[in-house]
Amino acid sequence: MKKIVIAIDGFSSCGKSTLAKQLAQKLGYLYIDSGAMYRAITLYFLRNHVDWSDTQSVIQALEQIALSFHRDPETGLNEVYLNGENVEYIIRDLVVAEKVSEVATIKEVREFAVKQQRHIGSNKGIVMDGRDIGTTVFPEAELKLFMTADSWVRAKRRFNEMVLKNPHVTLEEVKSNLDARDYMDTHRAISPLTKAADAVTIDNSQLTMEEQLDLALNYAVK
Ligand code: C5P
Repeated sequence: MKKIVIAIDGFSSCGKSTLAKQLAQKLGYLYIDSGAMYRAITLYFLRNHVDWSDTQSVIQALEQIALSFHRDPETGLNEVYLNGENVEYIIRDLVVAEKVSEVATIKEVREFAVKQQRHIGSNKGIVMDGRDIGTTVFPEAELKLFMTADSWVRAKRRFNEMVLKNPHVTLEEVKSNLDARDYMDTHRAISPLTKAADAVTIDNSQLTMEEQLDLALNYAVK
């Protein structure tokens, strides 16, 4: 079957990456988490005290950043590397989550990430999730999914994941981080999160993971 590009966009923590991984596995496609790139850039900025309100500092910092994805042989999933270091786990920390959406508003940061995302997807056979994949990165994607879910449902899902790593995290903290990121993602000037005109909406507040996968697979093989 002809390989296609599947673009999945949507709000924070509404199961985009879960669905994207499952779709990629079923179809034998590559899965790329574009949010991991923005998170890795944010981690670099935080570690190196980059003043991201200053364009020159941002440009200089980006010149020092090499991002890559490498497959974990055990899970079969791609993990993000920042200058050769596997940062897949550390970038999920709340410290990074609190700053990433601000960093993701910066024009130079977006251009840096989008260029690499397009390069990775140039051979098709890819599922990429994020906020601007169907609108900006791959406007010609053959299948675009726009995912959403009730905000408390999303906060509880993310809290359940985060509390395993950090028992001090609270549901309210997680919810307010999600709300803040959704606000910034939908209101930024460049490539704001919005549903592409030709995207299909999946609201998974009431769907099991199996139901959501079946739904998406039906669209993918149409
Ligand atoms: O997907 P994830 O929640 O890991 O993404 C982290 C943040 O990166 C998002 O809240 C958003 O601000 C930003 N992002 C983006 N464009 C993308 C993917 C992520 O602006 N394509």
